[in-house]
Amino acid sequence: MNIPKSNLPRVVIIGGGFAGVNLVKSLANKNVQVVLIDKRNYHTFQPLLYQVSSSGLEPDSIAYPLRKIIKKHKSTFFRFAEVKQILPEHRMITTSIGDLSYDYLVLATGTKTNYFGNKTIESNSMPMKTVPQALNIRSLILQNFEKAAIASSNKEREAFLNFVIVGGGPTGVELAGAIAELKNNILPRDYHDLDPDDMHIHLLEGADRVLPPMSAHASKKALQFLKKLGVKVHCGTFVKDYDGTNVTTNSDLTMLSETLIWAAGVTGAPIQGLKAEAIVANANRYKVNQFNQIEDYTNIFAVGDIALMASEAYPKGHPQVAQPAIQQGKLLGKNLLRLIDKKSMKPFVYKDKGSMATIGRNKAVVDLKPYKFGGFFAWFVWMFVHLMSLVGFRNRVIVLFNWTYNYINFDKAARLIIRPFKK
Ligand SMILES: Cc1cc2nc3c(=O)[nH]c(=O)nc-3n(C[C@H](O)[C@H](O)[C@H](O)COP(=O)(O)OP(=O)(O)OC[C@H]3O[C@@H](n4cnc5c(N)ncnc54)[C@H](O)[C@@H]3O)c2cc1C
Repeated sequence: MNIPKSNLPRVVIIGGGFAGVNLVKSLANKNVQVVLIDKRNYHTFQPLLYQVSSSGLEPDSIAYPLRKIIKKHKSTFFRFAEVKQILPEHRMITTSIGDLSYDYLVLATGTKTNYFGNKTIESNSMPMKTVPQALNIRSLILQNFEKAAIASSNKEREAFLNFVIVGGGPTGVELAGAIAELKNNILPRDYHDLDPDDMHIHLLEGADRVLPPMSAHASKKALQFLKKLGVKVHCGTFVKDYDGTNVTTNSDLTMLSETLIWAAGVTGAPIQGLKAEAIVANANRYKVNQFNQIEDYTNIFAVGDIALMASEAYPKGHPQVAQPAIQQGKLLGKNLLRLIDKKSMKPFVYKDKGSMATIGRNKAVVDLKPYKFGGFFAWFVWMFVHLMSLVGFRNRVIVLFNWTYNYINFDKAARLIIRPFKK
């Protein structure tokens, strides 16, 4: 892999997400050689993927080149590769571009979409975990508008204008709100040949309320906002099957839809090679101690979504959101340096900074202990937090410009089918 030999201990980090990037930054220009490996050459800001899917933002504004992050880190290297296997007994990994040895290995591989074993849903629905997947959704929505415009009957048009989102967590709720804005603001302007009343957005959630991880106050407010936007919310509803057009559920609710977006859950993306006992089977996450060390390994660590650190406060591990990943990445950097200096490591304690979700223009809900609020101020807080969390000044400026433009003009300017999506 052409990594120069060095006398410094080598830390290999797999994954340039929130956890990996914060770890890399905390090891910058220290007495270690760092190798960051990712199967993409950019960091993805996943919280705004739904805005790419719904034509609100260009994909480039939520992605950031990993090489740019490390440009001033003297002894840090990036390799664009997929890691295939870990050989812990040889302190080696195998990747799509060759093998590499390590002194310390950190797994920050995040999660993948969880279809709960349903292969038909997996092959026919649209996931939203990556930038290419968000672009697929954007293309499919716009292609379906075009097909609806040339349909010869209402019956034929129905499946093209029914949009089904499965999963009423923050991702599903935010996407439903954004697609409702396409219906309310874009369809009447761009598609004179379509009646917006023929377009329906269905949000299906298995629990008895939307936003189950948030407070009851946030769920109630979010439901009000969704209904106001015209989204049809079905709680206590599971999708049983989807063949690409017919949606069947656990109740007698059935629908015809060409677009089913699957936002119902994630599962860990571990890499082969470690002992089976190191992985919590039902979550596919590595079992780690309070220093993020994987059980039974002294020099292999896991951080972020892929790590399950059970504690009294979080018996099932931390929530799979950005903050635990950021905080673990930062602390592990310091702990690795302490370990190398033969000092004791500091245990991880999660600082919960609250949660939030936005539901279209001017509306959001925020749970910020002990405060819970919704509406315009919450929306403002949501925008500020997301803008400041984006990686890169350029991205922040572009996103702010787009949001301002969209706000003033009721527009979503990235309505482009660049690469048509083929089902
Ligand atoms: C649509 C969506 C919306 C979200 N919204 C929010 C939100 O509003 N707020 C919030 O706090 N959280 C949100 N999250 C969750 C948040 O994005 C994750 O918790 C966070 O990204 C976890 O960071 P991570 O570093 O553990 O993993 P990730 O950010 O997923 O990064 C993992 C990295 O590992 C790389 N990788 C994986 N396997 C390999 C391999 N074998 N070889 C090489 N590279 C590999 C991937 O390419 C990726 O770059 C959202 C997630 C999604 C999908």
